[in-house]
Amino acid sequence: MDQYGLSPDKPIKLSDFDPDDGEGFKSKSDAQRQLRKDLLRIRVLQEALYAEHKQSLLIVLQAMDTGGKDGTIEHVCGAVNPQGVVVTSFKVPSAEELAHDFLWRVHKVTPARGMIAVFNRSHYEDVLVVRVHDLAPKEVWSQRYELINQFEKHLTANGVVILKFFLHISKAEQKERLLDRLNTPDKQWKFAVGDLKERGLWDQYQEAYEDALNKCTTAAAPWYVIPANRKWYRNYVVARIIRQTLEAMNPQFPQPAEDLSQVVIED
Ligand code: ADP
Repeated sequence: MDQYGLSPDKPIKLSDFDPDDGEGFKSKSDAQRQLRKDLLRIRVLQEALYAEHKQSLLIVLQAMDTGGKDGTIEHVCGAVNPQGVVVTSFKVPSAEELAHDFLWRVHKVTPARGMIAVFNRSHYEDVLVVRVHDLAPKEVWSQRYELINQFEKHLTANGVVILKFFLHISKAEQKERLLDRLNTPDKQWKFAVGDLKERGLWDQYQEAYEDALNKCTTAAAPWYVIPANRKWYRNYVVARIIRQTLEAMNPQFPQPAEDLSQVVIED
């Protein structure tokens, strides 16, 4: 999975990443079989993480509209015990949120010890939509990359492991997905005419993403560019990286606080 992880000293161009990647498998069902195995393992590791109550995992999901954030949460994060996961979706900031610094609403929902937090959008919106739509002056948003790096460093120094996934789809794939939403009655609720305006800003978004990925890939909190045109491959890669990360965190079930060897449970 290393091929999808960025390094702080090697800036990337998004155009060098193929959103269609996924041919490494003989068939889709091979990938799905592997995904099921990884999800079972993630479930066990998550239970140990929860019981250990020392470290935590933060998963950041960013994507262009229709990029598959919801699907990834459903298929990958949905496989773990809901008691140990908190999903937060970041919307247009409220008046109260705007009255604070941009990280205020984010810090409050970072994961407690033993927990996995999933961010559906995140503090990165403050260097993405804010930049593309001029919602703050350049002097303000351009300082945020460094502030984000410091914030993430602070979290990792406090036992939070951070995984950041950019679900990378092509513009043509987005068109297919928008058409599908438009033409399927049960999916029309997801279609917003405003999404077309955002689609018109595709290049500006790609540029803003490229900058965020390059400026905010640190050794402690790297970005991953996930090929996301094929949903089954996207799910497979994300689950694999989460599994590998949890394996490396190596959470341990705690020893019982008392000697249990003599305990007898009467009938
Ligand atoms: P989603 O597209 O994630 O399924 P919505 O359709 O409710 O959910 O979109 C959330 C909207 O909130 C997006 O347009 C996103 O750009 C916007 N948003 C999130 N964070 C911010 C922010 N910090 N500043 C401005 N807009 C934001």
